[in-house]
Amino acid sequence: MQEKLIDGKLVSAHLREKLTKEVKELKASGITPGLVVILVGEDPASQVYVRNKERASRRLGMNSGTIQLPAGTDERELLSQIDRLNNDPACHGILVQLPLPAHINEKKVLMHIRPEKDVDCFHPQNVGKLVAGDPYVLPCTPAGILEMLKFYKIQTAGRHAVIAGRSNIVGKPMANLLVQKNDTANCTVTVVHSRTPDIAAFSRSADILIAAIGKPRFFKADMIKEGAVVIDVGINRIGADNEKGYRLVGDVDFDDVLPKVSMITPVPGGVGPMTITMLLFNTVTVARHTN
Ligand code: NAD
Repeated sequence: MQEKLIDGKLVSAHLREKLTKEVKELKASGITPGLVVILVGEDPASQVYVRNKERASRRLGMNSGTIQLPAGTDERELLSQIDRLNNDPACHGILVQLPLPAHINEKKVLMHIRPEKDVDCFHPQNVGKLVAGDPYVLPCTPAGILEMLKFYKIQTAGRHAVIAGRSNIVGKPMANLLVQKNDTANCTVTVVHSRTPDIAAFSRSADILIAAIGKPRFFKADMIKEGAVVIDVGINRIGADNEKGYRLVGDVDFDDVLPKVSMITPVPGGVGPMTITMLLFNTVTVARHTN
């Protein structure tokens, strides 16, 4: 089984080692990469994500801060916090943790972040550059997937990549990246989603299947091609007889598909660790370019 695993923790550790060196060099030249995360409200899952991001950036020697705002914060206050960070030269990356409370216009908030500090690649200017094949930084989760494919020397050129899910965070940018004309792409890309009538008809012909739909163990062995590479982005909680009362599973039925795949990412320990690493990578990239 081990030889089939795409180990996100391992790939992450390699990248973080390189980043630590780069941060040291930048610091020696007077630049400390700085990331600020804004969190509105007390959503427990978001608090865990934010804490992990802060810890990971500190470990690399970067500056890291969190602005915690109460759930009732009005949009104007949030925008003025972003203004302040937009103009703060010590802050290279700004990340607004999603989802935002319903009374705040998410699109407006994301548009307000200076594109140069948009380490999530959510700003339309950066999304446009990505689609045009001239990216500023890559969105973290899809970028992490590309790094894993590269690390394990998984061929992409000419292969059929099926992406399940069309969110702005994962599915759409992933499709746009894999269709590009470059060495880490050149795929034939199909996107399937909630309105696709027969998903298996597409996933069965996928050389590379990227599952990002948020449905626990949706993809079974009979939906997968023999020898496929499977990237499982999903993070779903299912009830379990343990202390927490739950455990995490992906969108793919790991045990069921394992005999059939050539390689697969586990959940947890696959795509998850890569997402945070790419956020740090993007912040360091911005720091290198803006100073
Ligand atoms: P989302 O809810 O924004 O989008 C889900 C997409 O899946 C939608 O485009 C929808 O059309 C599609 N979909 C829903 N049900 C479907 C079905 N039955 N069949 C086919 N398509 C269906 O989700 P998202 O933000 O893209 O996240 C997807 C999953 O990936 C979630 O489990 C999320 O927790 C996880 N995620 C993980 C990471 C990571 O770092 N590992 C990062 C982002 C998201």
